[in-house]
Amino acid sequence: MSNVLLDVQNIKKYFPVRGGFLKTVQGHVRAVDGVSLQVNEGETLGIVGESGCGKSTLGRSILRLIEPTDGKIIFEGNDIRKYSHAQMRAMRKKMQIVFQDPYASLNPRYSIMQTLTEPMYVHGLYNGKERAERVRALMQKVGLDPSYASRFPHEFSGGQRQRIGIARALVLNPKLMILDEPVAALDVSVQSQVINLLEDVQKDFNLTYLFVAYDLSVVKHISNRVLVMYLGKMAELATSDELFFNPLHPYSKALLSAVPVPNPEVRKERVILQGDIPSPANPPSGCVFHTRCPIAKEQCKKEVPEWREIQTGHFVACHYPGEGV
Ligand code: SF4
Repeated sequence: MSNVLLDVQNIKKYFPVRGGFLKTVQGHVRAVDGVSLQVNEGETLGIVGESGCGKSTLGRSILRLIEPTDGKIIFEGNDIRKYSHAQMRAMRKKMQIVFQDPYASLNPRYSIMQTLTEPMYVHGLYNGKERAERVRALMQKVGLDPSYASRFPHEFSGGQRQRIGIARALVLNPKLMILDEPVAALDVSVQSQVINLLEDVQKDFNLTYLFVAYDLSVVKHISNRVLVMYLGKMAELATSDELFFNPLHPYSKALLSAVPVPNPEVRKERVILQGDIPSPANPPSGCVFHTRCPIAKEQCKKEVPEWREIQTGHFVACHYPGEGV
């Protein structure tokens, strides 16, 4: 049986909305609104949804880079929301993040050697010579020439910079990596190379991934399971194959209809969702998807759908799972 590495229980992140002369709190943006998930050691869980669905906020809340409003984050059996800043800093060795924009996340004044040795220095790991050796070995591992270690971020391409971002996340030997849209800013030709690299290092370092992405086609191959989010809530969770071949939530179906099929003889009907995502400061009543759902009924406007397990391991929040579209 697989070991649960991360157990997130009913996590919420509400951002206050202030207004008026005294800047009083007038409401809240419910960026993440009651998400629960378990991730097993060595697993990749994909998290997908349109921008504004809360997926990146969820990733950052799990690392406590932004403080959650409520809920539990159990990592290796401990509730890390109870950890002090010092405990959390030590814990971050085991939980790392790779950001979408590698250029923005790298200090332009630091050489690659400085960028990659800094985390080891901060955590008091290894001596100077060992750190430099580790940097060169990691550069090789991520497909960068170690002789480039004295170069600066602007001297690299976007794909190479993301390789540096991955090396920096690996430098402390983490257990969990949150990949926050790690290929979204890269050319399509480079995306698959970076995904292949992520798969390779996952095996070599026995890593567990939370892979946050806008695009379902990106997470399809790398993920064991996929969670679909809409407006801060969980819409559907299933194994990758099950979600792709048997989506039950109308939102998942719409997202999947946009994924290109490599066979030109297969024609797919694209489901175009009407309207914009509603404001998470004022989410719709009942099912939050009802304002855009092609099969919404009266019940959907009034009753929040339960999170139900329809088949083993296949969960959905919909009154009419599998119907329509
Ligand atoms: Fe659509 Fe209703 Fe299901 Fe929500 S509960 S996804 S509105 S059918």
